[in-house]
Amino acid sequence: MEKREELYRGKAKSVFKTDDADRLILLFRNDTSAFDGKRIEQLDRKGMVNNKFNAFIMQKLEAAGVPTQFDKLLGDNECLVKKLDMIPVECVVRNYAAGSLVKRLGVEEGLKLNPYTFELFLKDDAKGDPFINESHVVAFGWGTAEQLVRMKELSLKVNEVLSKLFDDAGLLLVDFKLEFGVFSDGSIVLGDEFSPDGCRLWDKATGKKMDKDRFRQGLGDVIEAYEEVANRLGVPL
Ligand code: ADP
Ligand code: UDP
Repeated sequence: MEKREELYRGKAKSVFKTDDADRLILLFRNDTSAFDGKRIEQLDRKGMVNNKFNAFIMQKLEAAGVPTQFDKLLGDNECLVKKLDMIPVECVVRNYAAGSLVKRLGVEEGLKLNPYTFELFLKDDAKGDPFINESHVVAFGWGTAEQLVRMKELSLKVNEVLSKLFDDAGLLLVDFKLEFGVFSDGSIVLGDEFSPDGCRLWDKATGKKMDKDRFRQGLGDVIEAYEEVANRLGVPL
């Protein structure tokens, strides 16, 4: 497998073509962004930690029956993935109120949501990733009704599997964001990444935030918290 030209440079990862038309390389950089890319900083070791964290989680999900992009780790900062035609929609599952839900509805942070909620956002930084619903996705052709059903089904499966995994490590899975894409065979596959950059994790005993909110809120020790989560899960770093 040969690495070819850069296809896309995102805020935190770069995507490269390979000599296989169905495979891409994801390079996890140390760049850390918040507020739709308005704030960007470099955090030592972040690329490596998120690459290995993502590999571990994607393999757990695959084993639980969730089709993922993950193929294999290629080194500290890179992995080989299935090339997907990404659906420009962020699927957010929440178990406890936090972040934009607290702002939007004025509810208390930490309120247990019973049951979980499932939300959609358009992936468009220039528009501030606006809140949308299923009918917008279909009307604007970002995805089909059938694809949405599958994306929701897989998001809820991810919630079930990962809530348990993090709970066993003494962590609450508060909320998380997933991105899906369409593989060459037409199937819906989990893409992008799962790391503390795209979810909220609170220590069950102390309530300490162990995710990207440490960066967003200037709490410090961002990567130290990511590494602690990885160690508790048994992710080899
Ligand atoms: P952003 O685009 O939000 O700045 P990243 O820095 O994480 O995000 O860039 C990674 C980009 O690669 C994202 O646009 C994501 O949708 C895309 N991507 C992730 N996984 C795949 C995949 N398996 N196939 C094609 N594109 C992917
Ligand atoms: N999230 C993300 N990328 C985004 C927006 C949200 O990874 O562009 C994640 C975020 O880390 C959190 C969940 O999705 O785990 C819900 O985020 P929320 O809607 O509360 O928005 P935020 O507070 O991040 O603006």
